[in-house]
Amino acid sequence: MIQKLLDIKNLNITLDQKKILKNLSLSIQEKEIHVIMGPNGSGKSTLSKVLAGHPSYTINSGEIFYQGTNLTTFSPEERAHQGIFLAFQYPLEISGLTNFDFLRIAYNEKQKALKQKEVNPLEFLEIIKPLMDNLKISSEFLYRNLNEGFSGGEKKKNEILQMLILKPKLVILDEIDSGVDIDALKKICQSIKDNLIENSSLLVITHYPQILEYLKPTHLHIFMNGKIQKSGDLSLLEALEKNGYEAFNL
Ligand code: ADP
Ligand code: MG
Repeated sequence: MIQKLLDIKNLNITLDQKKILKNLSLSIQEKEIHVIMGPNGSGKSTLSKVLAGHPSYTINSGEIFYQGTNLTTFSPEERAHQGIFLAFQYPLEISGLTNFDFLRIAYNEKQKALKQKEVNPLEFLEIIKPLMDNLKISSEFLYRNLNEGFSGGEKKKNEILQMLILKPKLVILDEIDSGVDIDALKKICQSIKDNLIENSSLLVITHYPQILEYLKPTHLHIFMNGKIQKSGDLSLLEALEKNGYEAFNL
């Protein structure tokens, strides 16, 4: 049997006494590309943050297994080192930390955790430069403070750069296509295809069919009211575009 990369079973999450995720189950195998589409406020970002280990959320019941291990015992750092990467819907800005230092620290922390060699700034520049060229990010961005004054699209590209450097096994993209122009979105998808798809699984949250065209997902899930209402392949999109989410709200 192929090992499941991620296995979420009957997950229930409450925040401020409000049920946000309700008996959510989802399995992702290696190399699969899953897309989640759903109305605003249905709990999609909550799911991604719970997977990344955001401290605000407590699990009321249910289980999350990653590579066969109970994920909930891992800290956010351990999850990152084990290959889980979340590209945030709203990337953080940090003053006083250059993008270059941030990226190198993130890279070296993972190297350290995996007992691999850490790199000095010059070596890191050699790793990062081709990836930046690939994404069409100018080198000026390396020496600016992390995400400070970056446009929405620039922040998203920077998230993708971080992701390419960390080579995650499970990539979670929360609305990476919001606020990104069409050329940037194509670049992002192409970089993902060139660098990640061979060895990674993707969980992509989106409102726009465009990204489905570029990434060709293996699974499409309609997410409503804290759970997956319907799962299928790309053919679900037709019904969704014709009748909207209400058609799935049975
Ligand atoms: P989506 O990403 O699908 O738009 P979210 O996961 O961001 O939805 O939010 C799900 C629900 O949880 C929404 O009703 C939202 O208002 C609520 N929510 C999210 N964060 C908080 C918070 N910090 N405090 C209270 N409610 C929250
Ligand atoms: Mg969201």
